[in-house]
Amino acid sequence: MAQEDVFKKLVSHAKEYGFVFPSSEIYDGLGAVYDYGQMGVELKNNIKKYWWDSMVLLHENIVGIDSAIFMHPMIWKASGHVDAFNDPLIDNKDSKKRYRADVLIEEQLAKYDDKITKEVEKAAKRFGAAFDEAQFRATNQRVLDNQAKRDTLHDRYKNALNENDLEELRQIILDEEIVCPISGTRNWTEVRQFNLMFATEMGSTADGAMKVYLRPETAQGIFVNYLNVQKTGRMKIPFGIAQIGKAFRNEIVARQFIFRMREFEQMEMQFFVRPGSELEWFEKWKAFRLKWHKALGFGDDCYRYHDHDKLAHYANAATDIEFLMPFGFKEVEGIHSRTDFDLSQHEKYSGKSIKYFDPELNESYTPYVIETSIGVDRMFLSVLSASYTEEQLTGGESRVVLKLPAPLAPVKLAVMPLVKKDGLPEKARDIINALKFRFHCHYDEKDSIGKRYRRQDAIGTPYCVTVDHQTLEDNTVTLRNRDTMLQERVSINDLETIIGDRVDITSLLKQLI
Ligand code: ATP
Repeated sequence: MAQEDVFKKLVSHAKEYGFVFPSSEIYDGLGAVYDYGQMGVELKNNIKKYWWDSMVLLHENIVGIDSAIFMHPMIWKASGHVDAFNDPLIDNKDSKKRYRADVLIEEQLAKYDDKITKEVEKAAKRFGAAFDEAQFRATNQRVLDNQAKRDTLHDRYKNALNENDLEELRQIILDEEIVCPISGTRNWTEVRQFNLMFATEMGSTADGAMKVYLRPETAQGIFVNYLNVQKTGRMKIPFGIAQIGKAFRNEIVARQFIFRMREFEQMEMQFFVRPGSELEWFEKWKAFRLKWHKALGFGDDCYRYHDHDKLAHYANAATDIEFLMPFGFKEVEGIHSRTDFDLSQHEKYSGKSIKYFDPELNESYTPYVIETSIGVDRMFLSVLSASYTEEQLTGGESRVVLKLPAPLAPVKLAVMPLVKKDGLPEKARDIINALKFRFHCHYDEKDSIGKRYRRQDAIGTPYCVTVDHQTLEDNTVTLRNRDTMLQERVSINDLETIIGDRVDITSLLKQLI
């Protein structure tokens, strides 16, 4: 199935089963804003818990905070967001559609990559076992041509970004003959910078209202609380502060479902270290974060690092963790070595000293920072797309199953009486009443057992228990596994242990240490 079709199916599945709804849908929606439904909120909470616990439970030297969305406007001046939190935008004069110039060029780069991959795959098929990929890449003329075009484009693009050369960005778009996907023309406007922050007013006008921003990232809430936490928590460097919260960006082009939203959620951790040790910590956090992703079991091929072409002027290393979405490898998380930029800026703008006295070195310094920053919604999308599976079953039947990692599944256990009589519903309720303190359980007595299994498959419930007449005699039930569809007869007394071992977040956390 074409990847575009997979994505469409995913979006409609997410809606049909209560994961994600367009916001304000009865008023025809609001651009790039989404609501999470009854299943979505559970999955989202589980993702957040997995991240939070991996930070604050597994690391003695990481603590959490929850800072306000509104902050003093000077913070955004100090952080550089007021002057430089911009995206380069370009309009197509025929379709009147707006694009990010950098994204258009990055898509063009991906097209060259695709062409090369296709040549390699074709040749691999043709030559079979005798295929030598390295040799093919080094000698095939079409591959070499495409690689050369890609490299030239990449160099030009990188230079244009680094020099903030908007004219050159436009020229690249023209030279590469990039067309608007809607109008199909190359009738482009100039490239302009566009600030992504939402502004509003605080206080009544009579008092003199103050312009405030909806935060475009959660990180600044951590920086401005650095001193509070360090002092009250008696934290010693190296230590980290973690936070989960909403962020807002007036994205120019907000497409691709929950991949790029105007209101979204971030999970960020700032790790404060001694100057000079930051690159070592950067490598450690890079490795730990990839491990966190891989522990979910979607396969190592779904991930790759992508080092930044353009380093922010204050950063001395930055990489993204990209995930293979239905629309290609895309950034899910950024890991940045931000030097002492943020704390120094706040020191300068607030006039307060934000130094750390290091008792071991017997000196004061402004700590350096490694940041790990991941979008909850992008993570949600990656989990959903990696889990969505259509399976052909024997007998011509098929099923849609969300093969969610069990600890992330919204519902852990569905309990179903075989029939709606003979005391079976009551027995099923007893099971739920005993287990509901630990697992999110569903009771379902409607339709045939087969249909009920399909409904649970569609929301990714790892286990279904069926209560039948034998249950009343020997206190056993059938336990069905979502992925294998195998059923085994187990004692009700053993359910908590069998299920608990697989569905607790602990089973993921243990893989990280
Ligand atoms: P992009 O290049 O895709 O705009 P970014 O590099 O600006 O992303 P960061 O500022 O590094 O993103 O933010 C950290 C993380 O926050 C990203 O890796 C992503 O998961 C998430 N994120 C950023 N912007 C959005 C958005 N508009 N919608 C959903 N998630 C977002």
